[in-house]
Amino acid sequence: MLTPGDFENILAAQQDALGPTEKLTEILSDRTMPIPLWMRKEIVDTPQAARQAALREAERRTDVPMGMYVHIPYCVSRCGYCDCYAFPLTAERREEPAAYVRDLCTEIRGWAHASDRLRQRSVSTVHFGGGTPLTVGITGLERIVNTIRENYALSPQTELALESTGSALDETVLNELRDLGFTRLHIGVQSLDDRVRKAIGRRESGQTVLEKIRCAVQGGWIVSTDIIIGLPEYHGEQIRRDLDAMMKEGVEGFSVYELVHSPRNHPFFLSHHLMDTDIRDMYAEYQLAFAVLADAGYSHLIYNHMAKGRDDNRYFTGPQRGEDLLSFGTIADGWFGDYVYRHAPIEQWRDNLAAGGLEGGLCRTREESLLYRLECELRSGKPNPEPFIEMMGPDRALALFRSWANRGMIRISPDFDSCELTPNGSWFIYKMIDLKV
Ligand code: SF4
Repeated sequence: MLTPGDFENILAAQQDALGPTEKLTEILSDRTMPIPLWMRKEIVDTPQAARQAALREAERRTDVPMGMYVHIPYCVSRCGYCDCYAFPLTAERREEPAAYVRDLCTEIRGWAHASDRLRQRSVSTVHFGGGTPLTVGITGLERIVNTIRENYALSPQTELALESTGSALDETVLNELRDLGFTRLHIGVQSLDDRVRKAIGRRESGQTVLEKIRCAVQGGWIVSTDIIIGLPEYHGEQIRRDLDAMMKEGVEGFSVYELVHSPRNHPFFLSHHLMDTDIRDMYAEYQLAFAVLADAGYSHLIYNHMAKGRDDNRYFTGPQRGEDLLSFGTIADGWFGDYVYRHAPIEQWRDNLAAGGLEGGLCRTREESLLYRLECELRSGKPNPEPFIEMMGPDRALALFRSWANRGMIRISPDFDSCELTPNGSWFIYKMIDLKV
């Protein structure tokens, strides 16, 4: 088990691993996740052409399972630190979720009616994210789930998963969700510390959230949660205490995020003086979280998600298994094979439901496709060297893996048949994906 002294040593140890000649602050700050293909390149295909291309690929790949993602872009109120595409349910918007559900069901049926082969494909998971999906109410969720069940080949093995705030949950809601077939719950905890929760505008105490987690775990749910490093007043010992408390309640998966500055949360950064945050503190605290989880037997499912037990986080791990993604709702991305498509912002999405609500799409080139395969390996947190060897040849690939190991980014098993990101690697995943280190 880590002791408080270990926390102070993490930064120094990683600085050693990086090498004394490198400027740590600069290296730590240069950390932009590779942006999605549709942002890097022009979206070349029109909504209609994108839909046709996506359907063609979907029909060609009927032997591959697919996940489904449903985006609900509403929240009770807007949290200052959040960068999500979500609208607060102000008085003027109160009626919107019901209309959104109606339009969403139109979209869901539209894709199925366009292709019998698509509707017959096996579905690994149906994942509801947002926003806060429960803003459409249990009735809204029921309509969406029923429409999906009526139009696609869900099986008893298909997982239904939902992201939620703690405040949207209580025992009644959990039971109703269970009756709809949901079994996995991801709760956006962010922090259990009441000072932090107050600073980020959370209404419930950490203790109340913990009780809700307990209720869900005791009800048999697979529960995962997240914490955000870099929130105001959120530091080492609270992070450790929060993780310990949630592990004790039986949480099976944890996503660890760092607070990222964007135009949407700029006022929050200013009001909490976060522009001056020392990146080295975030780096150490981020690693502390992973180290605490690894110590407790959790391992990477993805680079920023550690799990044990039943949590397999199917929606986020789909790309690693080569699954396709059929997505529904405004701004949701999806793909079939190398064809990537994107849904439009809400007004255009609504106006364009006949073309699946899309903004457009594009196809990966052969080279992009190969690189994407490597990216998926790295994002998995347990990269398999084989695809790297295939693409770069054994000498270059093994040299790359050794260099990552020497820099404390991955741990390689003695017989080189498995490796996993270290806490340091979870931070530097961005550079590893860029193949810059
Ligand atoms: S943090 Fe969650 S509840 Fe808050 S605005 Fe973002 S998506 Fe909505």
